Order: sequence, then structure tokens, then C-alpha cells
Amino acid sequence: MQIAKVVPKVKTRGEGIFDYSIPPEILSDIKIGVLVLVPFRGHKVEGIVVDIKRLSQYPNLKPIISIIDRIPVVDDIHVKLAQFLADYYLEPFSKTLFENVVPPAKRILKQELIDNRTRPIKTAVKSHKYLIVADFSKRLKFYGQAINKTLARGQQIIIIVPDLTLTSFFTKFLKKDFVLLHSGLTLTQRWQTWDKIRQGKTQIIAGSNSALFSPTNNLGLIIVDQEESETYKSDQSPRFHVLNAAQFLSKITNANLLIGSVCPRVETYFLAKKEQILISKKSNEHKDITIVDMNFERSIISQTLINLIEKNIDQTKKILLVFNRKGLGSSLICKDCGWRQTCPQCDLPLTPQLDSGRCSNCEKNFPLLAQCPKCRNTNLSSSGLGTQKLKSILKEKFFQTKITIIEKDAPETDDWQIAIVTSFALKKELPNIGLVAIIDADQNINLPDFFNQEKLFATFYKFLRIGETGLIQTHLPENTTIKNLGNLDYESFFNEEIALRQKYLLPPFGRLIKLLYSCRLETECADETDRISKKLLKFSQISILGPNPSFSAKKRNLFVYQILIKYEKIPEEAKQILLSLPSGWSIEIDPVSTI
Ligand SMILES: [Zn+2]
Ligand SMILES: [Zn+2]
Repeated sequence: MQIAKVVPKVKTRGEGIFDYSIPPEILSDIKIGVLVLVPFRGHKVEGIVVDIKRLSQYPNLKPIISIIDRIPVVDDIHVKLAQFLADYYLEPFSKTLFENVVPPAKRILKQELIDNRTRPIKTAVKSHKYLIVADFSKRLKFYGQAINKTLARGQQIIIIVPDLTLTSFFTKFLKKDFVLLHSGLTLTQRWQTWDKIRQGKTQIIAGSNSALFSPTNNLGLIIVDQEESETYKSDQSPRFHVLNAAQFLSKITNANLLIGSVCPRVETYFLAKKEQILISKKSNEHKDITIVDMNFERSIISQTLINLIEKNIDQTKKILLVFNRKGLGSSLICKDCGWRQTCPQCDLPLTPQLDSGRCSNCEKNFPLLAQCPKCRNTNLSSSGLGTQKLKSILKEKFFQTKITIIEKDAPETDDWQIAIVTSFALKKELPNIGLVAIIDADQNINLPDFFNQEKLFATFYKFLRIGETGLIQTHLPENTTIKNLGNLDYESFFNEEIALRQKYLLPPFGRLIKLLYSCRLETECADETDRISKKLLKFSQISILGPNPSFSAKKRNLFVYQILIKYEKIPEEAKQILLSLPSGWSIEIDPVSTI
């Protein structure tokens, strides 16, 4: 008798694969990836066949009820990919399978679609993997060559970008037509695109994270551009990292993999050096970057910066002022009693925008109060600095100059000489810039996130490379990250950061798991995280940091506590504890932020 291993579309703990017997009349149609109807705990549910075996260790198997669709909805490669992600990220297999790799609108799958996919003949050629460290235009040239070679072989290409606006750069530069696959498409659009890909009617697929799961059947090349991007780690379950998934896919399909960045994560750079797959084509032209010690300045805009702005205005050159906080200031406070308006859900100060107050934690807007609820006075005003306030300060000094703000949700114009920008501007096509100035390099420098220096360096480094000259305002001129930024010296930054990572056994030398627990009562949060950490503490092979209130201790009316696990190899018993955590917990393997 033949046994089908089926993943039913249900929430389960553990592996989530169940054995069913195959009735003889449907035996010839049972293949990997076929959608079937199976009995499960008294219900009839959909499931996907993921393997076919001769024997089962269980007696008295229930039979498959029927086949829903004879054409497989997913092939064996994508079943393997879903299984890999489930194992690696401790997620239920049914979740990675149904939410990532199975086509979204499978119910409109029509029988007349003949499954014409042919498996490419596996050649003995080994796939290549490279990390290309270069500016975007140079990376594009590199990608272009690889894309052309792959097209000539008749194979398919997946291009992953952190932001869809970037695909237009690709289209423009490479003069090729792509299909776009991303989560913003409607179900029907996604299905149509999906179907075109699986029939091999399209060769280049570009998009965000989900494009990686497109049903290619002859994949020859995967490109992951701007690998340092935080969007590559899904913040919703299943929480996988695109680069990790791409590496696995390249391995099982023999597709080449190109990873690109101008400022890769130190972990990626370290491994690329070790594996000897690094191609560094960075133009290291010298740039004049001034570091201004703000300890001796009275205004948020230093005299040195004013002089440089004037000089660039005289030469009709454009100026970027980098400041990463939108709105009018950091918070709305009562000048009479010191009361501060906070997010009703998260207890964090609301950042005043032009028409409302925004919570940076839950990203919701709330109306700003006109009267202080504590002292009843109406002397409320925004404190601190935001892009809007910076603009009005600059307007006073440079009233004849056209000043704009480039940030998310702001109206766009090309008619400006000074642009105040948040990191959002890095996604935009910017004109030639004479001066890039970092207004406050220290804004986030002491965040207790293990990856903070890396993120800070990457953002400012990318901005400073854009301008002909640069300027950094800081209260910490002796800080090594600031100094390395001043020299645009990635290599020194990398060497220092990797030494620290080695010392503290952080990635790539050790690995991290972030456990978050959220609930309505703070005491319950403390008790539950305490209970789990005590259980984990008995394993000497792992070290536990916490439990403590998460950096934003409250989110959307829930208290959040976290435990950080540092390990080289996780003991099986500890893994079982993680797999059986009750609801309220979330597990993040390889977190990109530790706060
Ligand atoms: Zn007051
Ligand atoms: Zn909030």
C-alpha cells in the first residue's frame, strides 16, 4: 500500500505532517504538490501531499477523501523551501506552505490549464554565488550581464528589492520587461501573474519578499539587492529572512545567486570574505567630509554648516540635510506643568505632526490636544526637533532659498535647492548633490540594539556617498563609528564591528533568538517570561538575556516583555520548549533588531 504524507491546512503544533492511506482509484493521480481533501479531527480539510511513501509507522490510517485538483499547486522544490523555512524558523509547516508557496487564489485554478512545466535537466554545472559591493549603477551593470546570460540560456530570473519603487530603476537601466509580484496585488492579479510564471511565459520576476516564492520551473538566477535592508526580514509570521531563503532556493535549484549592496551587513560581508565570493567594486574617491563638534555650538545648525550651505547656494548646488524625525518635534508638552501627550495605547510620547500626533511605536495618529488635561492651561507646544520645525528654522536664515521636505507621505517636487530628508529619501532618485549634511548623527547612537551601529553607519554612509562634500554634526566626535563615517571607511567600520561581534559571540559567531511575550497585564507578562526563562536557564549551552520589558514596553494596549537567547547550537530539549510555547509568545530566529 502507498502512504501519502499530507500537510492539512490547520493550525498545529509540531511538524504538522500526517499520514493518510491512498485509495487505489486515485493512486495514479497522487503526486507531490497535489491538493486533496482529508479527514482531520472530525472535519474535512484541504491538504497538500508533500511526500509519498511505502510504509507508515502508524496503524489504521484514514484514507484521503478525494483529490481537489489533479494539477499540483506547488512543486517539490517549493515544498522543500517551505519545509526548510518551517524547520529553520520554528514555524508550523502548514503556515509556510499555505501562506508562502501555494498560489493565493488556487480556487480559480482551471482544469484546462495543462501543467506544461518541464523540469530542467540538471547539469553538472555548479551554481555561483557572489556578494557585489558597489554603488547602485555598478551593481546594475553586473546584474545586467548575469541577466542576459541567464535569458540566453532560456532560464528564469527572480529579482528581489526592498522597495518596489526600485524596480523602476531596474526597468529603466536594463531595458527589460519584468512582471512584478508583491503583496500589493489583488488576489486575481496575483493569480494571473503566478500562472504566467508557472507556465514559463515570463522570464524575469521582480518584487518584494514574496516574489521569491514565485512558481518558476527553470530558475537560473536570483538577485537580492540591498541585502542590508531591514524589510528583508518579515515582521509577521512566518518570519523568514529573504537572503536565507534565497540561499536555500539557489542551492536546491542550482540557480546562481547575486547579492548586492553598497554597505552590506557585517555578517554578510564576513561570510562572503570567508567563502571567497566577495566582489568589491567600490569607487573610493576621496570626499571632503567635515565633522562638527556640536558641544561648542549654540544652534542646531552650526556655523560651519551655515557657511557650507551659503557656499553651495552661491554655486547653485543642491543640499541634502538628513534628519530622521518627521513632524514638528519630539513631543507635545505643557509649558506650565510639564505634562506630555502620549500615545493612549503605548504610553510613548506622540511626535507632533502638522495636523495630528503620531506614535512611532504603533504608527497611529491621534489628535493633538489644545488644552492640558492636568493644569487646564492652553500653553502646549512641541519640544525637540522634527523635519517641519527644521524647515521653519532654515526658512528664517535662508528665506530666499527653495526648501522642501522629502519624507514618507510628503508632497513631492523637483523644484528645490535645500531638501530636508529622512531615510525615506534613499529610495528616491536624487539629482546631483553638492552637500550632504547629517544634522544629528547622535539621534539614535545609544539605542541598546546590538545591530544599532551597523544600521546607523549604513544609513549615513549611503547618504554621505551621494554628495560631492559632506558634513556630520555630532556631540561625539571621538566615536569610532562617526570617525569611520567621516572617512567613508567601510572596511575599518567592519573590522571594529566584527571584533566586537566575536568578543560577545554575536552573529555571525553566535546566533540569536528573540522571544516576545505580550498580554494585557504587566504582572502576567513578568510572571510568564520569568517562568520560561527559568526553564531555559538550565541549558548551559545557551545564554539568556532578560526577561525584561521590551524597549517599547507597551504596544497597542499590550505589555511586551522579551527574552534574548544567544547560542551556537541549540539543544534539542530547549528547542522543544520553544516549539511548545503557549499563545501570546512569538519567536524570532535571527532577529534584525534586539530591542
Ligand atoms: Zn499643564
Ligand atoms: Zn502607539
